[in-house]
Amino acid sequence: MRISEAQKLIREIYGERDRKRGIVKTALHLGEELGELFHALRTNNVDNLREEFADVLAWLLSLSDLISVDLEDAFITRYGEGCPKCRSIPCKCPEV
Ligand SMILES: [Zn+2]
Repeated sequence: MRISEAQKLIREIYGERDRKRGIVKTALHLGEELGELFHALRTNNVDNLREEFADVLAWLLSLSDLISVDLEDAFITRYGEGCPKCRSIPCKCPEV
C-alpha cells in the first residue's frame, strides 16, 4: 500500500469524524498516540509496538488530510532525493 492509498483509506474510515473534531484536537490525539508509542518502546512487546506505530501513522494521516497535505507527495518532495540538507543517500551531514 502506498502512503497516498493509506491516506485515502484513513479518510474513508475517519474523514467525517476528523473534520468534526478539527485540526487542534486531532493534533492532540496524534500527540497522545506518540506518547503511547514511547511507552510501548519500554515494554519491547512487538505486537504492541506494531499497533502503536500503526496508530501514530493513522493519526498523522488524519491530520495531514485535514489540512489537505498529500503526505506521499510531501515526503517524496522532502526526501525523494535523499537528505534534505546534504542531498546525499546516505546522509553525509555531521552527526548531531
Ligand atoms: Zn544530510
